Amino acid sequence: MWFRRDLRLEDNPALCLAAASGSVLPVFIFDDHLWNRSGDNRRVFLKRSLQALSESVGGALVQRSGEPADVLLNLCVESGATNVYASEDFGPYGRQRDEHVSKTLAAAGRSLTLCDSPYAVPPGSVFTGGGTPYKVFTPFFRAWKGHGWSEPMPAPEPKWYRELRSGPTPTEPSSSVDFPDAGEQPAWIVAEEFLASRVESYQTNRDLPAVAGTSRLSPYLKWGVIHPRQLLAKLGHSPGEETFRSELCWREFYAEVLFQRPDSARESYVSKMSGMVVDSGPDADQRFEAWATGQTGYPIVDAGMRELLATGWMHNRVRMIVASFLVKDLHLDWRRGARLFMTHLIDGDLASNNHGWQWVAGTGTDASPYFRVFNPTTQSKKFDPQGEYLRKWLPEIAHLPNKSIHEPWTEKTGAPAGYPGPLVDHAVERKASLDRYEQLKRTWV
Ligand SMILES: Cc1cc2nc3c(=O)[nH]c(=O)nc-3n(C[C@H](O)[C@H](O)[C@H](O)COP(=O)(O)OP(=O)(O)OC[C@H]3O[C@@H](n4cnc5c(N)ncnc54)[C@H](O)[C@@H]3O)c2cc1C
Repeated sequence: MWFRRDLRLEDNPALCLAAASGSVLPVFIFDDHLWNRSGDNRRVFLKRSLQALSESVGGALVQRSGEPADVLLNLCVESGATNVYASEDFGPYGRQRDEHVSKTLAAAGRSLTLCDSPYAVPPGSVFTGGGTPYKVFTPFFRAWKGHGWSEPMPAPEPKWYRELRSGPTPTEPSSSVDFPDAGEQPAWIVAEEFLASRVESYQTNRDLPAVAGTSRLSPYLKWGVIHPRQLLAKLGHSPGEETFRSELCWREFYAEVLFQRPDSARESYVSKMSGMVVDSGPDADQRFEAWATGQTGYPIVDAGMRELLATGWMHNRVRMIVASFLVKDLHLDWRRGARLFMTHLIDGDLASNNHGWQWVAGTGTDASPYFRVFNPTTQSKKFDPQGEYLRKWLPEIAHLPNKSIHEPWTEKTGAPAGYPGPLVDHAVERKASLDRYEQLKRTWV
């Protein structure tokens, strides 16, 4: 059983299939291609999740490093295994890798069996009435619910194959972040607590960064420590539960979009937006640096970036605000921001991150794309009215009253010492951004 993004025993159809066919050698492979591109926070959480998985299989997990096809073939030869089982990966690199693994194993008289996926509805399963993939979320959500999913399966009780040893693997990097506890049991403590007490108010509280209103399950979903099917099976139909179901579906929608358009991992999903002029050069680099370190002078943007640096997570509402600021106030390429997010996020996921960025940048699946320019001050007043989130992350301005904390430059003496004045004027940059869009539109005819 080749574990990848399904680091759990419960509701794991690939593992059930493997268990039904004989004794099971559980394997994880550190692939340089993925490991080297990961940020340290994701690496730490992966290492800890593997440690937890290893404990739950009584130490039988074999961890090795190398090119997956070579490692798997060696393991087959060493153990006498004839079939490798895995949950299907729908990402651009994963699909190529699996094709290569499948061919390599077949040439040696072995096989790769893929089943299930990290999603309730595997990408490529639902289509519009015209037989084309969905490009807009709301009709996809309807079709996704209509498609449905199976009930979760109990964990199998395989006979674990214990004759092989792990090889050298990368060491856990150091990180100052306070990580969530890794493993299925801790994940379910988080999930049960959310489902028992917070999901009811999710539809209102999920937008308030000062309130613990969201599930905090993203790192577990990223590595398949919990499968979305397991959460969906526990949801009823209250407004909070319905909203939570739709957020789980956003994750699936972006995986679908990336599956249909693998190029959209790096390029504009709406190809005519790729001509949008973005700034580069030393000035642009300085603006990027101010954004990345939480020094723009716009408190909600700075609080979000500091939350990311300190915790490896950022609230969804604030992810949208800081992304909009980078693209539409600083006129920088969304890919720069997406890369920085991937460096720090524990839950960093190519589909959700890059399409989250594209949605905000107006190059992606948003139905009313470029005109949506988040006003950081208005957003801050609306979603953090008492300034609690701002005070938590910005000690320099924590003493300011609610009236001015969202826009410290309005204080009589300007922004307090130690906190920067606004890097740009939002009203001016908003207009500049829309002007660039109008210019781009003229090139389309
Ligand atoms: C610019 C940007 C970048 C993002 N990058 C990532 C990323 O790398 N990895 C990631 O998992 N999410 C990403 N998101 C989506 C969202 O911000 C996080 O999933 C969410 O903040 C995680 O916290 P939570 O588990 O408490 O969320 P909850 O609100 O409890 O949501 C439950 C789950 O639903 C899924 N989900 C919720 N909102 C979204 C969404 N907008 N898009 C896709 N899935 C969603 C996640 O799996 C999440 O764990 C990004 C959003 C934006 C705007």
